[in-house]
Amino acid sequence: MKEIVLNASQKSVITCGEGAFEKIAPLVKAQKSFLLTDSNVFELYGGLIRQTFGNTPCYVLPAGEENKNFARLGEILSAMGEAELLRTSCLFALGGGVVGDIGGLAAALYMRGIKCVQIPTTLLAQVDSSVGGKTAVDMGGIKNLVGAFYQPELVFADPMFFKTLPVREIKCGLGEIVKYAGLDAEIYREVVKHKDNLYDLSFLAEITYACISHKANVVRKDERETGLRKSLNMGHTTGHAYELYDKKMSHGEYVLVGMWYETEIAKRKGFCKEEYANSLQELVRAVLGKIPVLDEACLKGALMDKKNEKAGVVTFVAPVSKGIFDLVKLPYEEYVAEILKAAEAIQC
Ligand code: ADP
Ligand code: ZN
Repeated sequence: MKEIVLNASQKSVITCGEGAFEKIAPLVKAQKSFLLTDSNVFELYGGLIRQTFGNTPCYVLPAGEENKNFARLGEILSAMGEAELLRTSCLFALGGGVVGDIGGLAAALYMRGIKCVQIPTTLLAQVDSSVGGKTAVDMGGIKNLVGAFYQPELVFADPMFFKTLPVREIKCGLGEIVKYAGLDAEIYREVVKHKDNLYDLSFLAEITYACISHKANVVRKDERETGLRKSLNMGHTTGHAYELYDKKMSHGEYVLVGMWYETEIAKRKGFCKEEYANSLQELVRAVLGKIPVLDEACLKGALMDKKNEKAGVVTFVAPVSKGIFDLVKLPYEEYVAEILKAAEAIQC
């Protein structure tokens, strides 16, 4: 078990590894607490929840992204009010990215902000969404439209939760892990080394710590995503655009599709050495399998990407060499033409 201090002055600490969950019970007892979890986690871990949280007031969110909405946020806040939480109380968000996002926002809003402890239970939430203080709900079909930056005081990332994850959920988390491999030379080496056993739980526990450390280093330097934090969006420009259009796969799978295409563009345009680009693309294939053939209709969303600074110009994060990356800006027409060339390369 290791600790990562995200922010010493605001006291934001991430505890990562086997045994992290055991640290929670004394915290629950020490203050007025509230538990938010989802119906699947509640069912799978009922015994453990009762042991740790006793009769702490609790809201169980029905599982699924469709519940990450304003109406549910209102219900959670009402339940917090009914539980008579005070400014000094603490919300514990136990679950995947959905629980973490809506729970973080509820903690940010209740009495203008109470303490929040994140206990991510999916691989995706541990390596990515639970660290960094982004909270949100979806609205009008737009993901994360309403939210706030609000750092949890503590994060407990315990790999014991991976044991019950369906393969598809692990694959989703691996999408973000391959993204980190494109940003961090050490993670790249580890992932390449384990290419044939990426689903091994002890590998996942190790790599989770490395990914969280990488993200914590980035967030420490750029909490509000004005610069370096944009790098964490590697694969997401094309990935998000296709996700918006297709809506059939998991977020991590779309990130992998985006990684493959954006690496291909970086290679063709000479930003990225061929050998390195090929090895990143091989990693993508090792997790994703077949790469889908994109056409222009799949790409419209790239115009709305939050990294874009100028209308009609698409920004993406290109791998350059191990641990090195660059923000690339291309006029939309050129971006589309490049993606289509890359798509042709898949077909032949
Ligand atoms: P994310 O993939 O962003 O973390 P969710 O919060 O929607 O998204 O979690 C994905 C699904 O996995 C949900 O149905 C959730 O209930 C379920 N889930 C969360 N943690 C676990 C776990 N440890 N084991 C099995 N299923 C889980
Ligand atoms: Zn992502």
